[in-house]
This record gives sequence, C-alpha cells and structure tokens, in this order.
Amino acid sequence: MAVLTAFSGLGGKSPAAFLLEIAGRRILLDLGEGPTPGQRPDLEGIGRVDAIFLSHAHIDHVGAIDLWPELGRPPVYATRATFDALPLLGLHLPPEACRDLPLQGPARLLDLPVTVGRNGHAMGGIWLHLPAEGGALYMGDWSRDPGFCPSTHPPADLVITDLSYGERDQTLVDQVQVLADSIRPGMVLPVPILGRGADIALRLSGLGFAPAICPQIRTEMQGALPELRQIATAAEARAGDLIIAADTERPGDLVSCLIADPRDWRFIFTGHVAPGSAAAELVAAGRATRQNWNVHPRARDQIWLAEVTRAKHLIPAFGALDAALNLQRHWPRSGDRAGPYRQKKAEPMLVEETTRERAENDAPILVPVHELTLPEGRICRLYVGNLTEPKTARRCWLRGLPHR
Ligand SMILES: [Zn+2]
Repeated sequence: MAVLTAFSGLGGKSPAAFLLEIAGRRILLDLGEGPTPGQRPDLEGIGRVDAIFLSHAHIDHVGAIDLWPELGRPPVYATRATFDALPLLGLHLPPEACRDLPLQGPARLLDLPVTVGRNGHAMGGIWLHLPAEGGALYMGDWSRDPGFCPSTHPPADLVITDLSYGERDQTLVDQVQVLADSIRPGMVLPVPILGRGADIALRLSGLGFAPAICPQIRTEMQGALPELRQIATAAEARAGDLIIAADTERPGDLVSCLIADPRDWRFIFTGHVAPGSAAAELVAAGRATRQNWNVHPRARDQIWLAEVTRAKHLIPAFGALDAALNLQRHWPRSGDRAGPYRQKKAEPMLVEETTRERAENDAPILVPVHELTLPEGRICRLYVGNLTEPKTARRCWLRGLPHR
C-alpha cells in the first residue's frame, strides 16, 4: 500500500515536499522553499530517498533542492525546461544528477513506469502518475483555465491536488478585464518565471496595451509579438511604461531595481503575496495592489479532476483548511445537469496526523475527512486534515490507503 508523508504543503500555502512510498520506492515529490521568505520544509527523519521529482521551476516547489546532498544525492527527475530554469533562481544541480522527463506521455522514474503530462501552470511543468498500488497522481501546481491542461490523466486512487485558490471559482476571462481596467501608466506586473507572463502579455496586447517585457518574458513568448519593446534594466524603462517582468525575488533583478527606482513605479501582483515578502511591503506602503489571474485550479476544476481520475482519496495541498471545507459551496447541487454531487462529513478514518513528538511515540491521531459523492454514486474522500496549528501543519501522513 502507498504511504504518503507530507513534510510540508498541507494546511496552507507552504513549500511542497511530499514523500511517496510506492512499489518499494521512496520518492520525494518536490522540494520547495517559501513562498513566505525563509519557509523551508523540515525533513528531519525523512530516511532514505530513492529519487526526487520536481514538478516545475517555481521557488515553492524547487527552492530547497540545495538539500540534495543531504538526501544522499538521489537522481532528480524533471523536464529539461525545469532543470534549465534552476540557475535563474540561484539553484544548481550537477548534470549527472538530472534525469530528463518528457512533457507528456509514458516515461520511467527509476525502474518504475510512470506517465507525465503538462500541468497548464508553468512552462515545462508536469504532473506525475504512478500506476502501482491503485495509482497515485501528484499534480503539483496545475491549472485548466488557460486551456493547456489536457484531460489525459490516468486513473488514480490517490490524487494530490492543488488547493492554492481554495474555493475561488472565477474564470480567467473575467479576470483579464478587471486587470486591464486597473492598469495605469507607470505600472509593473511582476510574474514568476515560466508562468503567466507570456499569457498576460498576449491577452493585454489583445486589448490594445503595448507592454514592455524583460528578456525572460521575451524568451517565454517563443517568438510571439516581436514588436513588444524589451527592457533589461530599470534605466531602459520609460516613464509611463507598462512593464511585465519576471520576478526571481533575488537582489539585483529587474523587479528589485524597479522597486528601488526613484520614479516610484506602481505594482500589480497577480499571485500569492506572502507575508514578509517585498510584495507585501509594497502593498502595505500603498504602492501595489493585487488582482487575480488564474494559474491554479478553480473549485469546479477540483471536481473535474476527481472525476477524470476516478480518485478515491483527494489530498488538497497548498490551501487553507477552511477553503477545503467550503469547496462544497461551489459544487453543483443534486439535480443540476452535472450532478449529483454531495459532500458530507465522514467518520474520521484513514488519515493520521502527527507532530514529530507523536511520531516518535508512534501515537498519531485521526483527523476528519469529508466524503464527496460523484455521479454513479462513486465516493471520493477529501482529506483536509486538522492542520490549523502551525506545529502540526508541518507533518501529516497517510498510510494504509486501501486501493480497491
Ligand atoms: Zn507554481
């Protein structure tokens, strides 16, 4: 039976680090840092790691890969685009550690057959499916809204999904216009590398804007809109520009220079604004606002995923407990065309949450789950965990997951 240990990533927006024990192998799914500055997974007691899978090159999924030597230098699996982006984040792996995965289709991880597919969230970003033991699917961050997430997910009893947006159910089409309406001359849109930058540039250009873009976004545009002006330094920015710039959160990058620029640029953040980050300081100082731009699944997409994968156990990662509980408000009611869906509180079972002290005493406690009834009466259990206390949010394990 598969065993999942969440070293980090449950109970809120925290770095991804899940250990999946399946088919005799111990695979670490992502190894992130942040998004809150300095937030790193506590891997004490992790034991042997046979391989690391990196879903995409965002800091909260790869930022702690510098711990690789301490994990026994296992092989690391990711797409070439993800490996190539690590140096942009100040991260380095020796080439001999890197095992390339395709963007889509069958592949091998160690000696295990796996399937991967585009996650619709970041360029080079993929989900990972392992067919053993009823099937396990790790989605990392994912999105259906921009339209590049194909519906080819194989069936999996255990699905780790992305609850970053909690119960948000807006569509990107609506968000584009709201963002456009908030743009004024002299604004900067910082975006993660390999993420939404090219999409934002394309959609705003379609609405008549002519944003200036940094060299990283130029690369991500893959030849589209060559007429957009490129700027590499703050000195090249002109007063009144609308700038889309990759934000590596590193000193000296274009975004940091524009923050320090005396021309008092205004900023719009479209992603998570972490406490203690430069973005949070700008918002507090009245120099920045937040607008939504979907790069994570909406509430309705969680249902879609549960359906297409025929999941029996859905683990919502990177989101708040309350949001998981409130998902049901956005799900179609019994009798609707897409129904019937029902959610009820289930008997506490299967999920065991633990602090390190409890783990040492081998006395884990049970936490509640919710049950979602999908069409045809199929039951999918939603594991929310009782992870409201920071101390217990760090670790949660599932074991003994029945797969039939
Ligand atoms: Zn991401």
